[in-house]
Amino acid sequence: MSDRVAADRGLQKVVSVSVDLDPVECYWRIHALPGAPPAQARHAILRRCLPRFAELFARHGARATFFVVARDLDEDAEGRALLGQLARDGHELASHTYSHPYDLVRLPSDAIAAEIDRAHGLIGACAGAAPCGFRAPGYAVSGEVIDLLRARAYRYDSSAFPSLPYYGAKAAVMGAMRLLGRRSGSMLDTPRVLAAPRAPYRPAPGAPYEEGALDIVELPMTVTPFARLPVFGTSLVTAPGWLRRHLVGVALRAPFFNLELHGIDLADADADEIPPALVARQPDLRRPLAHKLAALEETLAAAKAAGARFARLAEVAADFAAR
Ligand SMILES: [Zn+2]
Repeated sequence: MSDRVAADRGLQKVVSVSVDLDPVECYWRIHALPGAPPAQARHAILRRCLPRFAELFARHGARATFFVVARDLDEDAEGRALLGQLARDGHELASHTYSHPYDLVRLPSDAIAAEIDRAHGLIGACAGAAPCGFRAPGYAVSGEVIDLLRARAYRYDSSAFPSLPYYGAKAAVMGAMRLLGRRSGSMLDTPRVLAAPRAPYRPAPGAPYEEGALDIVELPMTVTPFARLPVFGTSLVTAPGWLRRHLVGVALRAPFFNLELHGIDLADADADEIPPALVARQPDLRRPLAHKLAALEETLAAAKAAGARFARLAEVAADFAAR
């Protein structure tokens, strides 16, 4: 039986690996660091980290989905060329907005539409095909954003992150920063996301975290059953080995594992000249690159060993919609 037939019959597990290419400047905003990152760090994610992901995925025969912050396509010709090559190699380029505003859902409608449309045009020109997938900055999506995506024929959104431990940790960090008089550039989503389904679903009108029947698919980030621990890049590269293997093992028991990574997961703080002020605030940046690479290698190998096939999110959404 071919892989395709097996998958159609729901017999084979599917793992989608996606990488959010948030530039260093995004982390600058989260931690409310003064000014802007120095020039040498500004393009580190596309120029330094992206090739490491490309090599990692090539070693495992995985085609991935890259969520592009489209302003980088405007400002970084070298990064744009790398992404164009990845698209030609069969990876998917999807939209992570134009400028990654953490408060996207609170912007006026025309500003939200402009973020989506500018990204749509730039990513389409780079990839040679219009993007059909979207991930909201900071995982916060709204009914309005979903409607704008549907009007532009997007097949899927992949923003829901229904994890109380993740949500609580984010709230705690933002609260602690406020006590210190610093205001994070990040934004806390509505707690309704915590009750979102863990498996792919069609959202309800005006309620993107509830199951409904809209003509778009929501592909939530993978969290474990019950405790809803997040199984994503940050937890995999920072957790001790036994916990990482446990999380990955649990994620691989489900038919679909939506493994979300960030470009910064494969940063080498020294070699990539990441400023010490940021390294001091991001625990993942204090892990050696070799350790992080080994953690992701082990995860992809575990997926293969569990008999999973790798699929881009656009394929998963199309298969789900055809059910
Ligand atoms: Zn992001």
